[in-house]
This record gives sequence, C-alpha cells and structure tokens, in this order.
Amino acid sequence: MKIGIVGLGLIGGCLGLDLIAGGHEVYGVARRQATCAQALALGVVTAASTQLASLRTCDVVFVCTPIATIVPMVAQLAQVLSPQAVITDVGSVKGALVEKATRQWPRFVGGHPMSGKSEAGIEAAERGLFEGNSYVITPVTVGGVETDQGAIALIEKLAQELGSVVYHCTPAAHDRAVAWISHLPVMVSASLIHSAIDEPDETVRTLAEKLASSGFRDTSRVGGGNPELGLMMAKYNREEVVRSLKRYQQRIAVTIKHLEAEDWEGLAKVLAETKAARGRFLG
Ligand code: NAP
Repeated sequence: MKIGIVGLGLIGGCLGLDLIAGGHEVYGVARRQATCAQALALGVVTAASTQLASLRTCDVVFVCTPIATIVPMVAQLAQVLSPQAVITDVGSVKGALVEKATRQWPRFVGGHPMSGKSEAGIEAAERGLFEGNSYVITPVTVGGVETDQGAIALIEKLAQELGSVVYHCTPAAHDRAVAWISHLPVMVSASLIHSAIDEPDETVRTLAEKLASSGFRDTSRVGGGNPELGLMMAKYNREEVVRSLKRYQQRIAVTIKHLEAEDWEGLAKVLAETKAARGRFLG
C-alpha cells in the first residue's frame, strides 16, 4: 500500500519504521528539508518531501503533527489527495478535532495509538512501539453520515499490522477515558516533580535528588516528558482534565484525613483496594 505520513516526529517516525517493515511504501512530509534527509537516513520513509502534493497518489495518509495543526493539515491535504484516499490522525485528543476534520474530508478516520515515550522527535523513533498496545478508532456521524466503513476497516487493518489491539468508541468517551489514564497522570506526575523541587531546605532537596530511584523514575516519567504534548492535552481536553483533577484532589483530601486522624485501618483499606484494582488497567 502507498502510505503518507505528515509530521516526521516520534509517532510519525515509529509508524514509518513499522509500516516499511510491513512491506508498505511510505511517503513522508516534513516542514524542513533537513528532516526529510534525516528520515531517509534513518529508514523511516521510502521517499520524503516538504510538499504535501508528493502524497497525491497515496491510499492513506497519517497526520502525525501536533494536535493544534491536525484540522488545518486535513484541509490542506483535501486540496491534493484523490477522493478515495483515507486520512487518519494520531492525535491524543479526539473531541476537539474528529468532527471538524470529517467535515474537511469525508473519508477521515480519527485514531489514537496508545503508545508513547518521554522523548520527542524523529531521533527517538524505534520499531515496535505500538506492539501489544491499544489503538483507538473514533467513528462519528456528521450531517447524518457515518464514518465510512471501508475507511475504518483500512485503518483497523493497518493498526493490527502494527501489533495493536483496536478499540472503537466515540470521541467524547475516548477523551474522558484518556483523561484518567493518560492526561491526569501527566498533570499528577508534573505536580509531583514540582512539589519535590519546591522543598525549601536545600540540603534535603539535594539529598532527595541523589536518593531518587525506581519509585521516582516510575512516577515522574510522564510528568518529565514532552512539555508541548502535555500542554496540548490540557488545552484540547480541558474539561475532562479539570474534571479528573478535581476528583483526584478529593481523593488526596481523603488520604490526608486518614493520616491526620491516624486512621491506619481506613488507609490500609484504600491501599488494598487500589492494589487489587491496578490489574484491571494493566492486565
Ligand atoms: P513530535 O515528536 O514533536 O513530532 C511532531 C512532528 O510534527 C515534528 O516532526 C514536527 O516537525 C511536525 N510539526 C510540528 N508542527 C508542524 C506544523 N505546523 N506543520 C507540519 N508539521 C509540523 O511529537 P509526537 O509525540 O510525535 O506527536 C505527534 C502527534 O502524535 C500529536 O498529535 C500527539 O498528540 C500524538 N501522539 C503522541 C504520543 C506521544 O506519547 N508522544 C502518543 C500518541 C499520540 P519539525 O521536526 O519540523 O518541528
């Protein structure tokens, strides 16, 4: 299949590597010629260009640029692609963009591979990032017309080739669910790092920096990731992120109460519940 990728960063790069390995022809588009040369050198694309018109004959195009640029990019692609081409995106939020993008291109399919890492950019691209992880597809009905079944089936097939497990849901359900398991953790993890660096006693702060080990590595990972991505999640999924943060704030207040009241039985019950529940999320 002839596949286009616009935005040759972390996700675009990882997609390119896996799709080429799967036997597809991958045409990349980047803003800068230097990125095109780098993508070719890293084997992320079969061909690269700074011009969207180079994707004219592609069967499917993945938009892998930052969330704010996805809808305008779909509008630009609509000027150059053939009518049967499918456009999909990998944006981490869906409600803010899937209906708008579908209005620009009827064969648009909202998608979100639930895979990532702290580093950004094409240099961080690696094979197998999507293997074993979920890939969400968010069909919509716009102007009484449902997302094209053939277009959905095509993206589903490619996601399965990447080794992902496909789920379908509405953009709203996606945004509420990912607020819990992706966006809230970024905000919580960032607040954790902030609280630690706010420690007023310099000796203690320096000691904490030296003592930090696996626990801090696990809990600080997503808060220490790509700041641009964190900001986009907050901006474009604001309501759900605020809702989940408020619920989290209530939970912290309950924990503080347990500690202040020395209610060890209450705290032990909570910790036993959370230990049992964690497996429901991570298998
Ligand atoms: P990234 O590594 O920073 O890559 C973004 C790419 O988009 C870069 O190649 C950048 O090009 C290009 N770009 C930026 N602004 C552009 C514009 N105005 N027009 C054209 N290209 C532009 O970011 P990423 O992590 O791959 O994220 C890309 C998308 O994947 C986002 O929509 C994000 O929500 C989604 N996503 C991210 C993760 C994750 O964990 N990172 C997971 C799932 C989905 P230059 O190199 O020229 O700056």
